[in-house]
Order: sequence, then structure tokens, then C-alpha cells
Amino acid sequence: MDARPLALTLNAFDLADKSLSGEELTREEGLAILAWPDADILSLMHAAYKVRHAAFGNKVRLNYLVNIQSGICQEDCGYCSQSAVADVPVEKYKLMTPEEVEAAAEKAVANKAARLCMVASMRGPSDRDIKGVADAVRRVKDRFPQLELCACLGLLKDGQADTLNEAGVDAYNHNLNTSERHYGEICSTHGFSDRLDTVRKVREAGISSCSGALFGMGETREDVIDVAFRLRELGVDSIPVNFLIPFKGTAQGHREELTPVYCLKILALFRLSNPFSEIRIAGGRELHLRSLQPLGLYAANSIFVGDYLTTEGQAGSLDREMIRDLGFEVVGESGPEGAPAPLVDRVTLTSRKIREAKPA
Ligand code: SF4
Repeated sequence: MDARPLALTLNAFDLADKSLSGEELTREEGLAILAWPDADILSLMHAAYKVRHAAFGNKVRLNYLVNIQSGICQEDCGYCSQSAVADVPVEKYKLMTPEEVEAAAEKAVANKAARLCMVASMRGPSDRDIKGVADAVRRVKDRFPQLELCACLGLLKDGQADTLNEAGVDAYNHNLNTSERHYGEICSTHGFSDRLDTVRKVREAGISSCSGALFGMGETREDVIDVAFRLRELGVDSIPVNFLIPFKGTAQGHREELTPVYCLKILALFRLSNPFSEIRIAGGRELHLRSLQPLGLYAANSIFVGDYLTTEGQAGSLDREMIRDLGFEVVGESGPEGAPAPLVDRVTLTSRKIREAKPA
């Protein structure tokens, strides 16, 4: 028997073919993807691209986030800057009015986003919150019927998903975040089964389900496989893959576990194990993938554009430039991007710096 690690004996394209045939990857194959030799990362990303291309071509979906209620959640998720137990100076405000959400929708459209993701920091919505969001959804849909609307309001009670559906919500996001085994390490005020319950309620209401994960919180490779495979079992339509943004003042704020190339392996695992789901590179993209961000799009077909919930993202124009530079296309891009700044205008002479550095 070949005694080399499985990652060295596997052909990445065989994994891509298996994935496209609808056959599930084994745990051993999943682990081999996460242990793929760093120096051979391009073969893995090429295989992920084969699957991504078969399902989504070269299209990239842009999503725009708006934090519709900020900094006032009673839960204790250890990664979250908006938790009651976090000591992070984030903005605090209650649920936005429909007019404020409409203003955010204008920005989403200006950024060429296909979807507006309305996120509220809360354990779960009251019926009054649901009414407020439903009113905002109707207002935005009237003005921008082509803009998809996703709500992320925490744990849902019976019937709330139906109300959102009737108002015109297209999708509901509720992340599993990590494996069932590891969940107790990141949160104690609700459990993994509560999260599963909401994802199921969303699916039963006929709303498109968006549920993903967050890495860099002390999870093992087995945990990464567990959550990737669990999302496949659930059949979610869209999977945001987040990489921990470590906030000083949160329980997970000390973590520094990820490397850019390991993040790519996670993205490849998600693509190969969830071939037909949208895979979105979400929070922490700039911080963790850094100069390898463009490679991530060979596995993922979607990103957030603009800022995250409580941190700044890179300029939307840079994201769109990255997509164009790869030869990829933004989904639903209607108008022209507008000519990029001519290269000649991007050249800055060092002469002044040299003069300033000269000793007097
Ligand atoms: S439930 Fe959501 S908003 Fe509240 S602490 Fe957890 S992640 Fe943060």
C-alpha cells in the first residue's frame, strides 16, 4: 500500500470530477484537501475552478452588507464585536427605519451588488422587529425590484420566516459557524441545534437558505470537515466562508491561526464538497487572504463588496478591478463600470520623499 499522505497520492482533477458527478467526498479526501502541500496549491485551486466554472462560469456575485441594528446583542458569541460580553467600541443603534434601509440599498446598487444583506445584532427578532424589516423590504423592493434581499436576524420563531417570505425577502442568512462538537467553545447562550432549527425553518418557508462558517477559532481540521459536510447535507443555497476578524475585547480576539494558503484550502474544500452552492468569501477576506485574494475566486463565486458589519472592507472599486483583472464578470452588472483611472494617473514620483529624507 502507498504509505505517502493521501494529499500526495490524490489527483486534484479526480476530486473535481467526483464532485461534479454528485458523489460526496470522503472525510479522508476532505482532510487531504486541508493538508494539501502549500507549494502545490495551484493544482488544488485549478480543480476547484473546474467545479466552480461548471456551476457558475466566470461570474462573481457581489453582496452588500448593512448592519440594520448594531452593537446591542445579549448573546455571548466569542468572536462577535456586537455581543453583550464584548468590550469593543462599536456603534450602537436600534433597528433602522425603512428609509434608512432604502438609503443602504441605494449604496448597494451603486456598488453593483446583486444582493443586499440586512444584518441585525440580536438573538432573534420580536414580531415588531419582523414587521419593521418587512416594511423595509417592501419599500426597497418597490424601488429596486432587481435587488435581492437577504435578512439575517438571528434565531427565528415559528411563522416568522413565512412573514418575511410574504414581504418579499429572497434569502435568510443564519450561519452554523463551526462544527457541532466545537460549538460550545464559541458560544454558551445558544447551541448548535438552535442554529440548525432556524436553517430548517428558513428552508421550510421556501426562502433561499444562506448558512456558512467562520474559521480561525481554535477548530480542528475535523471540525472544518464537519461543518462543510453538514452544510452539504442541509442543501443550503449559499455558503459564506468567514475568517475570524480578531477584535480586542472579545474571547476569540487573541487568535492568529490562519495563513492565506490555508484559507485557500478551506475555500477549495467548500467548493469541492458543495459544488452547486454559492460559495462566498466573507468577513476577513482582506485580512487573511491578503495578496492571495484573487486566487480565492477560483473556488468562490461570490464576495462582499464594501464594509463589513463593524470593520472596513477594501474599496468596492478595487474589488471590481480585481474581478476584471482575472477576466471574470460581475453578475447582473448593468451599466458600464466607468473607465478606470488611466495608468498614467496612478504613477506617483518619489522626488518629494527623497527631498524630505535628505539631511538638512
Ligand atoms: S447572536 Fe449574532 S449579533 Fe449576537 S453575539 Fe452572536 S454573532 Fe453577535
